[in-house]
Amino acid sequence: MPPQSVTPPAGAATAPRLVWDVSEQGESLLTALFPHLAGLRVHRVEDTVHAVVISASCRAGGACCPRCGQESARVHGGYSRVMADGAAGGRPVLIVLQVRRFRCGNPGCTAVTFAEQAVGLSERYRRRSVPLLGMLAEFGLELAGRAAARLARTLGITVHPATVLRLIAAAPELGVTAAPEVLGVDDFALAKGYVYGTVLVDMRTADVVDLLPDREAATLEAWLTAHPGAEIICRDRAGNYAQGARAGAPDAIQVADRWHLWHNLAEYAEKTVARHRGCLTNRPGVADGDAGPGSAGTPEQEQPGQSESGQIMPDGSLDACGRERRLVRRTQERYAEIRGRLDAGESLSAISRATGLDRKTVQRFARAGSAGELLGKATSRDSKLDEFTPYLHQTR
Ligand SMILES: [Zn+2]
Repeated sequence: MPPQSVTPPAGAATAPRLVWDVSEQGESLLTALFPHLAGLRVHRVEDTVHAVVISASCRAGGACCPRCGQESARVHGGYSRVMADGAAGGRPVLIVLQVRRFRCGNPGCTAVTFAEQAVGLSERYRRRSVPLLGMLAEFGLELAGRAAARLARTLGITVHPATVLRLIAAAPELGVTAAPEVLGVDDFALAKGYVYGTVLVDMRTADVVDLLPDREAATLEAWLTAHPGAEIICRDRAGNYAQGARAGAPDAIQVADRWHLWHNLAEYAEKTVARHRGCLTNRPGVADGDAGPGSAGTPEQEQPGQSESGQIMPDGSLDACGRERRLVRRTQERYAEIRGRLDAGESLSAISRATGLDRKTVQRFARAGSAGELLGKATSRDSKLDEFTPYLHQTR
């Protein structure tokens, strides 16, 4: 079959930089570089500015009907089909495949004609070659959608992150039948603050074993019942997981995983230090001069929230490290957004829908004169300890 000239992609230069009519000897060189083309007769390679275009056709004399499986060599017609196939030297490789349409010889078959497929290379309706699809799915499994698409782009392959995710979703499941001996159970966010799933991990190999659609006790119980074998279940301290593990694997030992223990300890340590720091710096009877080695700073140079001694004075808006508390920043951002929407004439209900906040919360923001008014209540809560503070300072 004579090679057909290729229409260059939009924006490409009209004249190719190189056109190579491939001889048989050249074909063996090509298949050494592109082994997945071994089943094809390669006619021509064109190096355009934007792509490497390979014109090829199938070698086989006939093809099997995809509906009844009967082989046919009666050619009905043909057309050319373009497939993306990886990249070479940072440019995409396109295969222009001359496809024959065969007439099915089986009188009982409903398929009158059918198009041939290059085995291991093309599939019906696919605009990418099978090896390229496999490679993108591997990228996706390692990196997920966006990072996989970015990596592909550096190689010269254009793909949308959503396509990568679809390829991952279409990949066959591993078919897990048993739980690992040491099973890790933790939640992960599908939409932070709204939808959570559960990830199950083999703690010896750190491989993800399975994903569950929620973090309910019954879901974990059902999985453990269907996948026996867990001897130790390493989990966070959520009651649902404890309940699910008790019911689904009653003989397994449940342990709290180290990461969560450290994480919780660190959180509580920070909160405790932040709460009591004020007591230390506001101790009555301590003269300014006794404040410590950091007392040399002049008042003009002080940052908001810092005392003369350079220590951080918790006024409720800063954390123990002197950083703006997340609550403060979030309240200010929400106040600005809601105020902006009110000024634009949006109703409270519309703002509630747009921001995902409860209508009463939106109303509270709308009534407040400033973000500071809202923060005043949240950051200066009274403590039960307050009335005893002078006494505690006296007895030190
Ligand atoms: Zn058929």
